[in-house]
Amino acid sequence: MSALDVAAAVRSGSRSARDVVEEHLDAIAAREPEIHAFNLVLADEARAAADAVDAAVAAGRDPGPLAGVPVALKDNLCTRGIPTTCSSRILDGWRPPYDATVVERVVAAGGIPIGKTNLDEFAMGSSTENSAFGPTRNPLDTSRVPGGSSGGSAAAVAAGFAPVGLGSDTGGSIRQPAALCGVVGVKPTYGRVSRYGLIAFASSLDQIGPFACTVADAALLLETIWGHDPADSTSIPTAAGSVLPDLETGVEGLRIGVVEELTDAQGVDAEVVAAVERAAGALEQAGAKVERVSVPSAVYGLSAYYLIAPAEASSNLARYDGVRYGLRVDAADVTTMMARTRDAGFGAEVKRRIMLGTYALSAGYYDAYYGQAQKVRTLIIRDFARAYERFDALIGPTAPTTAFPLGAKTDNPLLMYLNDVCTIPSNLAGHPAMSVPFGEGADGLPIGVQVLTDALAEPLMFRVARAIEIAAER
Ligand code: GLN
Repeated sequence: MSALDVAAAVRSGSRSARDVVEEHLDAIAAREPEIHAFNLVLADEARAAADAVDAAVAAGRDPGPLAGVPVALKDNLCTRGIPTTCSSRILDGWRPPYDATVVERVVAAGGIPIGKTNLDEFAMGSSTENSAFGPTRNPLDTSRVPGGSSGGSAAAVAAGFAPVGLGSDTGGSIRQPAALCGVVGVKPTYGRVSRYGLIAFASSLDQIGPFACTVADAALLLETIWGHDPADSTSIPTAAGSVLPDLETGVEGLRIGVVEELTDAQGVDAEVVAAVERAAGALEQAGAKVERVSVPSAVYGLSAYYLIAPAEASSNLARYDGVRYGLRVDAADVTTMMARTRDAGFGAEVKRRIMLGTYALSAGYYDAYYGQAQKVRTLIIRDFARAYERFDALIGPTAPTTAFPLGAKTDNPLLMYLNDVCTIPSNLAGHPAMSVPFGEGADGLPIGVQVLTDALAEPLMFRVARAIEIAAER
């Protein structure tokens, strides 16, 4: 049952939220041991929340557009009184004193948090293998990764543990796991969704967004969470608007560009490019005007990202000092205590990012690395602006390959980083982008096609994604 159907049934009283929750807890009991999508399943809390929703319906009140819909929450979203780990040992035992704005909005809309999902530690990775609590496996083939860093939320939705989920996307962490698990994943425009209560990785890039089995369900969840929030200083102070009313408008007359730098990027499999070409053909069939387009500076996206993101991370992660949160490894003096705590609390990839970022920001190297990367970021923004003078939307691959085996890229960080070569440019530009399942590889695993638009053009992006979804269903 889709989230839209669940909410409609619960709101009309034809199905109880409790029944919906029990069904999903059963699904979790059956397959979670082999998949490990969750760091924590909120069984009792979900039952209690469902009973409250049912009581509201019985009393004639409308619980809201997400009535009774279980939602999987990435474990870097703060939940009041409930452990929030970022899949790191450094937050061991910490319970946030507040809910993230997105969590508040999900609950206010009648949605039911069903669990906290696994991720690469502090959202750094592309396979969910960098979790301190062990990897998540892809529900479609448990010898493969689900992608990352929001691999737990992607796997939870793909496995039917929840109809929808939330992740965060700094360089591709919603879209890439969505592609690898065969679900829809959306990174909204930077500033559209409040980051209040999202544990920061790289603050100028991080955005929260939905996972769902359908484009319409992703729209439903996005409409629930977005809109201005005074608690996030980067939140855009415009009316949120809506996506669902335009969803079935079609793509007749739209100008759509296939981005050469994404289809030709390093490591993108021929079968993925072929799927993008077929999606382009389907959009043309549906009345769009499709052409190839160049966004030249996109080729420098990955390099710029791996200076900017670690630089911001090295600053954001300085707060984990053994004093304020979670883990503390005691020592005779405070400097040694901090060093021991950070050594014991952070995993290898997080340490690598902190070192890279500290180096990129250091006096003498700042201009050559961080400063240069910021200039590249400006070039990418300008190149996209030029493309959007001629095109309404762009398409390209989401991930270079289908889901790869566990362990295949763990000892080669650069190979792992290349997973995000097609998704990173949108984060650097601050633009929205989403992944829609379209076809499969020779291994029978799903391929994702990415739809990109200009800032704040989510309604248009969803229309194109819906047209691709319709073509994929044929
Ligand atoms: N895989 C990328 C990284 O490791 C992106 C992660 C993300 O979007 N959170 O940084």
